[in-house]
Amino acid sequence: MLTYNELIELRDKLINNEIELELAKERCWKDFKVGQRSWHTKDWKERRSKFINDKCEICSSKETLTIQHLSHPRKHSEYLTETTREYTKEYIGNNSEIDKSDFNKYLLENYDYVPIPLCPNCMNKNPSERVKKIPKYRCADCKHEFEEANYRSAVELISIFFEDKDAYEVRDKCFVSKDKWRNKHNLSNIKYWFQRNIAKNKDAESIEKKAFILYLNDNIKYLSFEETITACKKCASNSDLYNMELCPKCKQYYKGLQYPTCIQCLPEEKRKAALESIEFGKEMQAVHKRLGID
Ligand SMILES: [Zn+2]
Ligand SMILES: [Zn+2]
Ligand SMILES: [Zn+2]
Repeated sequence: MLTYNELIELRDKLINNEIELELAKERCWKDFKVGQRSWHTKDWKERRSKFINDKCEICSSKETLTIQHLSHPRKHSEYLTETTREYTKEYIGNNSEIDKSDFNKYLLENYDYVPIPLCPNCMNKNPSERVKKIPKYRCADCKHEFEEANYRSAVELISIFFEDKDAYEVRDKCFVSKDKWRNKHNLSNIKYWFQRNIAKNKDAESIEKKAFILYLNDNIKYLSFEETITACKKCASNSDLYNMELCPKCKQYYKGLQYPTCIQCLPEEKRKAALESIEFGKEMQAVHKRLGID
């Protein structure tokens, strides 16, 4: 696993085009095992000792202090998805029209068409299907009874879609993706994925690079101990650490967003109550753990 300084160096090289993206990824993920945590490395432990405060930043206790991160790095795949979405949005903004034959080809390659039955008399959708009675179908709209339903071909639906993308005929999610997800899409959904695919291929390199830099930045921030607070074990296990901010009064301790000040800055009476409630919360947790409801 790379150290904090090595990560910064790697990111800067990538930004300055001094290293190929693939090589940078290889360096970053070499010896990287799933579930491996940065706090097992020597670098992290050394840096941590410089950042940890001598008392809890919430209650000022000096007992069993830990560093708590107020945010955690996101997964690389999340950045990739997010960046692809951005590029797609921009691409669609500049290219709202799509090529019909390319779209056709994309649809056939990626989707199975499951046509919905139509009444042959009024072409209304989904006539009721009868299990015992003959003929099999009855149209709820025109009351027509029939044995064989009508179906539109995919080509026909695409033609209607190109005339009017919101037409009644083309709203149904009657296309099933051929991948393992088996997603049900309508033509508007497919148009989005088709355009996303173009945007993705067109700017593959830039998208990958941008996503990877965001990912590196996130990890650098995490290792920098920015957005961390020192908390005692009690406060760490009782406070909702993601909803903390610096106390506006003393600008020294942290407080929950819902409180006006930190525990230290509360009037004596309230301070006692708050500390007791932390103690109480800890006891309740212990009870829950014993009872197995935690
Ligand atoms: Zn504390
Ligand atoms: Zn009908
Ligand atoms: Zn305060």
